[in-house]
Amino acid sequence: MIGSGPAGVYAAEALVEAGHAVDVVDRLPAPFGLVRYGVAPDHPKIRSVSGTLAAVLSGPTVRFLGNVEIGRDLTLAELHRHYDAVLVAVGASVDRRLGVDGEDLAGSFSATEFVSWYCGHPDAPVDRFTLGASAVGVVGAGNVAVDVARVLLRSAEELRATHVPEHVVQVLDASRITDVHLFVRRGPTETKISTVELRELGRVDNADVVVADPAELELPGDVEAELPGQQKRNLATLRDWATREQHGRPRRLVVHFHRRPVELTGAGVVDGVVVERTVQGADGRLADSGKRERVPVQMMLRAVGYRGAALPGLPFDERTGTVPHADGRVLTEARTPVVGEYVAGWAKRGPTGVIGTNKHDARETVAALLADLPGLPGPAESDPGAVLSLLASRGVEVVDWSGWGLIEAAELAAGQAVGRQRATIAHRPTLLAAARGSARPRA
Ligand code: NAP
Repeated sequence: MIGSGPAGVYAAEALVEAGHAVDVVDRLPAPFGLVRYGVAPDHPKIRSVSGTLAAVLSGPTVRFLGNVEIGRDLTLAELHRHYDAVLVAVGASVDRRLGVDGEDLAGSFSATEFVSWYCGHPDAPVDRFTLGASAVGVVGAGNVAVDVARVLLRSAEELRATHVPEHVVQVLDASRITDVHLFVRRGPTETKISTVELRELGRVDNADVVVADPAELELPGDVEAELPGQQKRNLATLRDWATREQHGRPRRLVVHFHRRPVELTGAGVVDGVVVERTVQGADGRLADSGKRERVPVQMMLRAVGYRGAALPGLPFDERTGTVPHADGRVLTEARTPVVGEYVAGWAKRGPTGVIGTNKHDARETVAALLADLPGLPGPAESDPGAVLSLLASRGVEVVDWSGWGLIEAAELAAGQAVGRQRATIAHRPTLLAAARGSARPRA
């Protein structure tokens, strides 16, 4: 199994239930993929699914091999030498771009970078964000856009109660943000935001919410009557926001519908965003009305979706950003199955759905694997210790399940040292030292 996020672990669970031993390899020293490094820190209930994943990873017939990168420490071909089958569940780690002028100015970031930074991903430089901006723009109308907007609106105090790394708390403490502008290219009843997420955005203690153009919430009666339930509920939430009294809270969320960023302005550093006013045709397609507005912002975050990244040796469809497959069996360019190779999760179906979606998805892939298993050639090297010896011979410091336990203990100690419950360790060498049992608690 490559990847210890929800898809990989749900697949491991299904294989264990069928009586098989599984190794779960992850390039990071810590398990759980997007549950640890993607789910917002102020969503402890969603993050608590890590308990379910941990129960699988700590099972007697499962080995967690953290800090092992396929393509660097081991090739896919080597994995096939050591295992009956290889199942890839590496997610979709690359952000999509807007493709507008100014996108590469300083101050313009992907939501992925920001999420990785506040979750304490080892690849996210600790000094990546300073949050010196007073106005921040967020582009997108999916749940990731809502997550990043909400985190930007929260007070440092609120985030101190979560597991974010200590350097993140310190930057948030010093932040000068007053306005967060959310730019949505479609109308208020066409977003992908779930109602629960939308309502939560309006309940952040630290922030007022403003709908930039309340007239956009008025719809013809017959159109409104035909709306799906979620969109009706979203509309009701937005109307409540539009009529709310402003409380003069430290931060303000301003939601702009029918606004698509077409340019980021600034001499070297973002100082504003030019948005076009969109109109939607009867066929649902967006068109440019020709009207432009410039909104001053000093930081821009694009949350316009993810795409997969190619893994060396694994077939990859650049167009969809996914691994081509049939029921989870990896396919070559000629659409023939690669013997013993499978895919699950976002790498298989693209970045859609919630965590639970991966359970069904992983089980579909495992069903295909189990059906094929009797006909697979079997590994050339069947000693379970051989892969560990190979990694050791290459100087790879594998973090196993007990190493992860030591990291958890170090994170608890690092948090408690500064009066917090737990603080995520972001620094890779510190994570590895903790896994060795030799870390001083430092977040
Ligand atoms: P998403 O749901 O696909 O949303 C992407 C958003 O970006 C859409 O609103 C899209 O607009 C917009 N967009 C795309 N290109 C754009 C452009 N050029 N200009 C302006 N807007 C553009 O993706 P996501 O938010 O990254 O979420 C990924 C998945 O993770 C989703 O399934 C999501 O539900 C899930 N997730 C769930 C939670 C949760 O349950 N709490 C939290 C985070 C993520 P259009 O609609 O017009 O295409």
